[in-house]
Amino acid sequence: MLLNIDKPTKQAIFHPLGAECAHVPDPLGTEHELIGRMGRDGGWFEAATLADARATTSREAPVLEAQSCHYCGG
Ligand SMILES: [Zn+2]
Repeated sequence: MLLNIDKPTKQAIFHPLGAECAHVPDPLGTEHELIGRMGRDGGWFEAATLADARATTSREAPVLEAQSCHYCGG
């Protein structure tokens, strides 16, 4: 269960299946998208539910609203 906040695309995507989703990179995190905190382009955060993901998004990137991933979120 992972939340990706991506500033360049202005999206916050909640992946209920986390690492099992084809749209979650492995390894997780890049130079500019950090794990557990925001980098230049965004970040990856643990989130148990979509409500958790939305709470994290409103804290880290208030202009965005988290959406469920279309691939692993049903
Ligand atoms: Zn996904």
